[in-house]
Parts: sequence; C-alpha cells; structure tokens
Amino acid sequence: MSWNYSALSLLRGALSGHRHWSPAWRDASPKPRYDVLIVGGGGHGLASAYYLAKNHRITNVAVIERGWIGGGNTGRNTTIVRSNYLYPESARLYDFSLRLYEGLAQELNFNIMLSQRGLVLLAHSRHDLDAMSRWANAMRMNGIEAELLSRDEVAARVAGLDLSPHARLPVLGGFAQRRGGTARHDAVAWGYARAASRLGVDIIQNCEVTGFLEEGGRVAGVSTSRGSIRAERVGIAAAGHSSVLAKLAGFRLPVTSYALQALVSEPVKPVLDTVVLSPGTGAYLSQSDKGELVIGAALDLFPSYAQRGSFAVEQAIIAATLELFPAYSRLALLRQWAGIVDVVHDSSPIIGATPIPGLFINCGWGTGGFKAIPVGGWTLAHALATGRSHPLAEPFQLERFISGRLIDEAAASGIAH
Ligand SMILES: Cc1cc2nc3c(=O)[nH]c(=O)nc-3n(C[C@H](O)[C@H](O)[C@H](O)COP(=O)(O)OP(=O)(O)OC[C@H]3O[C@@H](n4cnc5c(N)ncnc54)[C@H](O)[C@@H]3O)c2cc1C
Repeated sequence: MSWNYSALSLLRGALSGHRHWSPAWRDASPKPRYDVLIVGGGGHGLASAYYLAKNHRITNVAVIERGWIGGGNTGRNTTIVRSNYLYPESARLYDFSLRLYEGLAQELNFNIMLSQRGLVLLAHSRHDLDAMSRWANAMRMNGIEAELLSRDEVAARVAGLDLSPHARLPVLGGFAQRRGGTARHDAVAWGYARAASRLGVDIIQNCEVTGFLEEGGRVAGVSTSRGSIRAERVGIAAAGHSSVLAKLAGFRLPVTSYALQALVSEPVKPVLDTVVLSPGTGAYLSQSDKGELVIGAALDLFPSYAQRGSFAVEQAIIAATLELFPAYSRLALLRQWAGIVDVVHDSSPIIGATPIPGLFINCGWGTGGFKAIPVGGWTLAHALATGRSHPLAEPFQLERFISGRLIDEAAASGIAH
C-alpha cells in the first residue's frame, strides 16, 4: 500500500531520508481469469477500472496496455479541459466530466494540476461571430456559463494578440468559458492508475491484445502477447486503435484514424494566462507551468497510424500562431509529436455495447477526449458493471449509426474534422 500524499507524508519522508516511498501502482503480471478486462491503459481505460472498483465494488479487474500507461493520446495531448458543446446530450456529458475534474485531485489524492484559467475562442469574421453567439447561447440554455466577448474584451484577456485592423487574421470578438483550462495529462493517467491499483486493480503493461476469445456467441476473454486471459466482460478503450481491435473481435466501427499533432516552444516567463483557440485556423495554444507554449494543430486529413504528423500541417499552424501572436516569432520550438485520434463522422463518442455480447467500447473521442476521461471512465464502468448504458451515455450508442440519430458536434469539437 502506497502512502497517502500529504504534507504529513512529505515530512515523514523527509525524516526518513525519502527512502520509503513505494511505487505509485503495482506493475502486475496477468492472472488467468478476471471478472472484467479493459483493453487500453490510457486515461479512459484507467478511469474505467477505477470507477468499476470505486462505484461498483468490482475489483477483480485488469487493465491491459500494450505499451506503457498514458503512452497513447493521454500523454500526447494539449491538456485542454472545457465543456463548451452545442447539443444538450453533449453538454450534459462534458460538463459532468468537468465537474468530476474539479474534484479529482482530492478524490484521487493526486495533484492533477487542474488550472481553470479560462479559455477564449477567437472570431475572425462576421460569420464566426454569428456562429459563436449561437454557440454561447446554446451553452447557456444547457446551463453552462459562457460569455460573448467584444474585440476590446478579447484584448483585455489575451495579451500579445495582433489586434490591428490590418492583421491577416483580424479578431472581431469571441467567447469565453471561464471554467475551462488545462490539467496535467500524465498526472490524470497516473492518478487514476494509482487509485485503481490501491483498490485492487491489476495494471498490466507491455501486453498487447491480439485477439478476442468467444464462447457461446459471447466474449470470453482476450488472447495477448503474454497468453490468454479470460473474463466474462471486456471493455475496449483504445482510441486510434479502436477499429483495429473491433476488426479482431469481428465487427466494424465508423471510426477513421488520423494523426493529430502538437508542438511546444522553449520555456519563457509567463506571457499567456488563458487558453486561446482560433477555430477558423485550427491553431490553439496555452502556456504550461514550465513556461513552454503548448501549440495544437489541425488533423492531418488522411488516415494514418504513424505517430508523426506532416510538415505541411505543422507549418500552417506555426504560420497561423505567428499571425495571431507576432511576438512569438523568435521562440525556438523544442518538440513536435502526434497521436492517432479516433474520429467519428458526427464528432461524438461511442460509449456502450458492441454487437458481441459482453464486449463494450469507449471510443470516437477524436481530438477532444482528454477532457472526457472522467465521464468516459464513469460511463464505461457503468456499462461493464450493469450491462446497461448509463443515462449520460445513452445518446452515444453505436446503434445511432443505424438509426441515424447522430449528434453532430463538428463545430464545437474545436478542431476542424
Ligand atoms: C496532439 C493531440 C492533442 C490533443 N489535445 C486535446 C485537448 O487539448 N483536450 C482534449 O480533451 N483532448 C485532446 N486530445 C484528444 C485526447 O488526447 C484523446 O481523446 C484521449 O487522450 C483518449 O484517451 P484514451 O484513453 O481513449 O486513449 P489513449 O490514451 O490513446 O489510450 C489507448 C491505449 O490503448 C492502447 N492499445 C491500443 N491497442 C492495444 C492493444 N491491441 N492491446 C493493448 N493496448 C492497446 C494504446 O497503447 C494506448 O495506450 C488530443 C489528442 C492529440 C493526439
């Protein structure tokens, strides 16, 4: 059992030369059988395991990760959390998630470095202004605060923006969600892993799922690079690799996998104290606690599993960022990377049953599932424990691609799909 993290345990550690800290979670080896298996040790898989143990008292659970936990999109994203969606179904889902985030550091006893510094979306045209006023009004009708901003109000909140009338990307106004912000991505994965492990969940790294076991038309476990593991219920939370796993299980998903990239600059003193998004260009940025500017890009719009991202998209995003913030032009870039995101045609997630009895899935978060880790875990755990959809997840079933009841959040997903 690891110590509780607190000022007292720091003091205790200091008095004993910090020799007694135990690993935050147990790196387990696979057992032959579990009650529930979760494929994918990203934020959604780990949160699902934690809520299975915490909310449903199901602790004979394993999370199976082919690499290391948080090494997928969870550790590659630009860490923005928000709940500024258009439709009531999405507003309920994402705001529930943000509310869970607001109490998560205490709940997990792990500092996830949530910083509700607010986010500002920029309107560059009359059309953007109209779309944003519709968007902000929809949010208010869904009970989520939103503020429409004039050009001067944007100027007061976002230091360094080029607001001259001759700018290539003129800023006419925008809107803000004050409760939005950032959280430390790997702390979210590690916090859920530690809390789940303390409740008895096995976290198995370096173990790739290579197939699904079926018996009597139901899922009966998985085959892996470390042997077969049996379970009557299995959840998939594998983001960009969801359709690969679905194919192994024998069904198809309406998911296309694309590379999404991000970059960080060298660290500088505090220059930007809010999150800024320019949906029209696909550029968005914030400043990390280390001082780096964290810049997100648009999708590389061709299907790919290569975690790199193309130079053309990178160049376009740097150009847009410098049009908005000319003063950043002398900054050196330190790193660039990409993750493989799972994009669904209506830009909304899929959470619930699959055509294989006993097999459930959480995917389709595309470019925006970091903010949804708490609710994605909460609702997948509910489905795995009860066999039924959680009310928040009901509109987000795979079946909507047959019924046609799509929830088109392409505009609010933030990055052009
Ligand atoms: C550059 C970038 C920026 C982003 N910015 C934001 C943002 O600012 N805000 C936001 O809300 N979202 C953002 N996202 C999206 C967000 O990161 C993802 O939606 C979210 O992290 C998905 O979490 P996950 O747990 O489903 O997937 P992942 O973290 O990718 O975890 C899935 C895991 O499944 C494992 N896996 C795959 N196949 C197998 C197998 N066969 N066997 C075992 N394990 C397997 C993978 O190794 C991986 O670790 C961004 C994504 C990227 C790439």
